[in-house]
Amino acid sequence: MQHQERVLLGSKKLIRNQNRKELVQSLGYLLVVATLAMFLLDGGLSNLSDLPSWLDSLSRATSLVGTALLLVMLFLTARIPWVDQVLGQDRATAAHKRLGKPAFYLILAHFALSLTSYAITDGRNVAAELWWMVTTFEDLLTATLSLVLMVAVVVSSFEFFRKLLRYESWFLTHLLSYAAVALAIPHIFSMGSDVVVSDVHRGFWIFLYLFVGLNILTFRVLLPLWNSVASGVRVSMVKRESSDSISIYLTGRKLKRFGANAGQFFQVRLLVKGLWFQAHPFSISAKPTNSAIRFTIGDRGDGSKLMQLIQPGTRVILEGPYGIFTQQSRTRKDVLLIGAGIGVPPIRALAEEFASQPGDINILYRTRNEEDSALLTELRDLSEKRGHNLHVASGSRPRDGRWLSHGEVSDEEALLRMVPNVRRADVYICGPEQLTKSVEETLRKLGVPEHHIHSEEYAW
Ligand SMILES: Cc1cc2nc3c(=O)[nH]c(=O)nc-3n(C[C@H](O)[C@H](O)[C@H](O)COP(=O)(O)OP(=O)(O)OC[C@H]3O[C@@H](n4cnc5c(N)ncnc54)[C@H](O)[C@@H]3O)c2cc1C
Repeated sequence: MQHQERVLLGSKKLIRNQNRKELVQSLGYLLVVATLAMFLLDGGLSNLSDLPSWLDSLSRATSLVGTALLLVMLFLTARIPWVDQVLGQDRATAAHKRLGKPAFYLILAHFALSLTSYAITDGRNVAAELWWMVTTFEDLLTATLSLVLMVAVVVSSFEFFRKLLRYESWFLTHLLSYAAVALAIPHIFSMGSDVVVSDVHRGFWIFLYLFVGLNILTFRVLLPLWNSVASGVRVSMVKRESSDSISIYLTGRKLKRFGANAGQFFQVRLLVKGLWFQAHPFSISAKPTNSAIRFTIGDRGDGSKLMQLIQPGTRVILEGPYGIFTQQSRTRKDVLLIGAGIGVPPIRALAEEFASQPGDINILYRTRNEEDSALLTELRDLSEKRGHNLHVASGSRPRDGRWLSHGEVSDEEALLRMVPNVRRADVYICGPEQLTKSVEETLRKLGVPEHHIHSEEYAW
């Protein structure tokens, strides 16, 4: 390789990456199987003589599996580096979302089943039983509060409400899920008959809670704070890139400690009025060095509008880096990098960092207006220097669902004409959600294998 010496490519790397993914997924399944196995071995299905005993047994099983799933969910979004490096944060978040409903329904089922079982045994109606229970047992009051918070979190995540909420409001509501899990802990360790049954069981659950809790504390709070404060990260320069985007250059001591690679992103918190309480994800837009990290930020909403006015000297907290939209996912010599609109920052960084010989790398920049496109001049210079093929496709998207071709030909044909070797390339796509999906569709029609398509959506 002409640039950046040696990089591992080929099917061995592909298989290794896939095996790692499967191993991490298996750990989640294993936890659920282990909790169910413990339940059965402890005689969870014995002595089922009447309706209350059946309801009680089901309520215990649903609570154990539901709690295990909740812990897996929290673990997936704890932003643990080795999980991120195997799954990528977007896939970890997608798995977290998929588990949300099953976990919630299981906990809800546990609540309904146990309440009904107790009500039948005590000869009260469910409302009277609930009142008696929460006013008699302190742990049940907090557990019920935990369920109420969980309902709020789940409802706020329904597509309909999500669209109504601003990202920050949704995020703050979502943080309540930590409170919900914490409020249920006393109940689990005082009344969870399958948890208190022996020291081994109690130890198992204490270990799980501590493991997940400490990972969250370390990787979501302490490490980002420590790295940013120790490096003294601050804005050193701001440069206008287009009519609606700027680049902010950050400087600090030993920025290599973050271990960032081109293609990754950080959650960026700018410590100024109006912005310090929100962290936004931004991709690195140039190969990071020990003294500089750069982001290119488009004006897309209220937060990023304020950022356009940011001044040098502003202190910054960086959380990350995250993502496997990097050289690590590459297994082919030929690469096609597709950036659309403000999706171009990681593409620009990858074009700089990827090891290549002239002609290995094609770059496709999809932009509305070629005259007003962020980082296009840099991409031209880089391509000339490194021998990359740069294609610029400008103009608004046609209304018929296509994303590339304006003429007679289909998107597949247009892409094939531009990049004849696309079928044997690793393709990296970064752009708005809808466009990313359209590009993926075109690639599938052309027969590009799924494992050679790598995408980073700018969506939450
Ligand atoms: C992995 C990743 C990398 C990104 N990299 C870049 C980049 O390099 N340059 C860039 O300009 N933008 C990037 N974005 C998008 C950027 O994070 C959002 O544009 C920004 O957070 C919007 O904040 P706002 O307050 O201005 O938006 P709002 O006014 O809150 O909303 C405007 C739009 O931005 C979306 N949005 C808001 N908050 C977020 C969020 N936290 N994550 C994702 N989308 C959000 C909303 O859905 C809406 O469509 C990236 C997003 C992701 C997920």
